[in-house]
Amino acid sequence: MTIYSYSRINTYFTCPAQFQFRYLEKRPSPVAEGIELFLGSRFHETMEFLYHQVPKRIPTVNEMVDYFRNHWEKHWQQSLQKQKDKNFKETLRIVNEGQSAEDYFQKGLLFVENYYHQYHPFDQDKTEGIELRVAFDLDSQGQYKMQGFIDRLGRDDEGTLWIHDYKTSSRKISQEDVKTEDQLALYQIGLSQNPKYGAKEKIKLIWHFVAFEKDQVIGERNPKEIGWLKEKYVAKIQTIEKAKSFPTKPGVLCGWCEFLTVCKDGLSFVDNRKKQREKTALPVEISSSPGNAEVSPLSPSGGPQEGPVGGAKVSAPAVLAAPMKKRRNFSPVSPDQLPLF
Ligand code: SF4
Repeated sequence: MTIYSYSRINTYFTCPAQFQFRYLEKRPSPVAEGIELFLGSRFHETMEFLYHQVPKRIPTVNEMVDYFRNHWEKHWQQSLQKQKDKNFKETLRIVNEGQSAEDYFQKGLLFVENYYHQYHPFDQDKTEGIELRVAFDLDSQGQYKMQGFIDRLGRDDEGTLWIHDYKTSSRKISQEDVKTEDQLALYQIGLSQNPKYGAKEKIKLIWHFVAFEKDQVIGERNPKEIGWLKEKYVAKIQTIEKAKSFPTKPGVLCGWCEFLTVCKDGLSFVDNRKKQREKTALPVEISSSPGNAEVSPLSPSGGPQEGPVGGAKVSAPAVLAAPMKKRRNFSPVSPDQLPLF
């Protein structure tokens, strides 16, 4: 029996062909890892480093920055080796034109610093789990199973559990759209079925869009909404399991798809889009998270616009509109590329 993850389900509805390549055929990626994923992973590691120590000891901001830098360099070396072994064209894949790995590295440093200064001394809640696995049933017969990993689980002084999630995307969902962001609510089901927690816990969901100075978006789901959510995901799994074919579904995320080089439809979509952009000469919006990204031309003014992100409306990328204040200067470091999630 397949145990589904949120991203496995999401992939099918984004593009069935990508789902087939990645999950059914388990094809190895023909290209290097994307920079957004790489950055996301390094940021998550840095948060793990922090919360494994708090509250016994609070690392300094310099320790955090060093940790991020060292891990970036270590993984960059690994990616270099992989590039040699697999004959990849590049060490890490950068889709956004005009961006370098160094740009992503510097962004990551700012994310770390900004998070540190915003939450220091990290006493908003007490950590109960980091990268905590949750496995759960969507139905009473146990026919539909899911699993996932909570970035961090905390409990505040009032006893509320907080499911934390870090997003390094340059787009942020709006407060009104948290009801359509299902990933953390699914993890809430997982906690309710965990003997340590159970269904009576008060649970809040918190996204940290760390590219934004005000990073938090908070949501919650009541028992009725959780019931609907289970039905919705059972229906999604049934659709996947009934599928007889897995057609391509070209869209804006093709540019970030690891199978683009072997997908005729995706290549032609990307090519047409490029030609259209050149015709209209509009700037291309920069995204740092393929998982969340909707890449579309900015309005000529470069001002706020809204577009779908994982099905939800998003606010404009503040990191572009109003860059965070840089608190320190960092010497350039060898770049890596990878997606952040
Ligand atoms: S390139 Fe686009 S259409 Fe092709 S598999 Fe990837 S997401 Fe699907």
